[in-house]
Amino acid sequence: MLKNKTALVTGSTSGIGLGIAKQLAKQGANIVMNGFGDYAAAKAEIEALGVKVGYHGADMSKPAEIEAMMAYAATEFGGVDILVNNAGIQHVSPIESFPTERWDAVIAINLTSAFHTTRLAIPNMRATNWGRIINIASAHGLVASANKTAYVAAKHGIVGLTKAVALEVATTGITVNAICPGWVLTPLVQAQIDARAAKEGISIEAATKDLLGEKEPSLQFTTPEQLGDMAVFMCSAAANNVRGVAWANDGGWTAQ
Ligand code: NAD
Repeated sequence: MLKNKTALVTGSTSGIGLGIAKQLAKQGANIVMNGFGDYAAAKAEIEALGVKVGYHGADMSKPAEIEAMMAYAATEFGGVDILVNNAGIQHVSPIESFPTERWDAVIAINLTSAFHTTRLAIPNMRATNWGRIINIASAHGLVASANKTAYVAAKHGIVGLTKAVALEVATTGITVNAICPGWVLTPLVQAQIDARAAKEGISIEAATKDLLGEKEPSLQFTTPEQLGDMAVFMCSAAANNVRGVAWANDGGWTAQ
């Protein structure tokens, strides 16, 4: 379905981004990976699906590096058809002691980076009159939790960005939508489970159960593969007129 398209997935060296990159590659999309850490094994795994895979290590908190990444995608892949804004970080702290540099980092990586990638991706999408911009928001883009001010502000912000850009391109073949996952067992969430187990003096298993029980009626994690398949649907013709939505995949978290 996505043969000859190029998908750039920010933060695709692990977790949800990697899951989305794999599902898009299974549909034939070439992939531009981004993120930190060791990506060689993941890159080889995606290449084995028979698509072209590139990597750019841009730091999503640095606009000049984002510009370099988008220029790399243009030169090496002929531009970006599918943009998945996924890179993200978390910091948990009451607002009175929230480090200001952590606030700046969360807003830069989880929100401002999507402004830059989007503004740079749209001209090529307009030229071909086809494009998909998929923003990985969160249940925290729809509802809040205490001690996550920067994350909740950034995720509500990206839902707003999604709607505003969707309207700007509403008469074109470009759609802009958000996916709002609940808990997904990735390194980002494992760190929160580990912190909870240490703070409460309980096992990792008990902390995992508590974390799910607090928010998710299904008591189940959403998987990166399920989110990847949601992204594939958003890239399909069936979703040609799905514009500006923020779709939850959260085990009932935001239905409460
Ligand atoms: P993760 O920690 O597994 O992956 C994050 C990715 O972002 C990694 O590839 C990392 O290298 C990259 N990254 C971090 N800082 C970066 C930077 N400055 N520049 C470039 N890349 C950077 O986390 P994840 O859980 O897969 O999260 C992915 C996205 O999904 C995030 O936006 C997160 O907020 C969102 N999300 C996660 C969950 C969850 O439960 N895990 C739930 C809702 C939303």
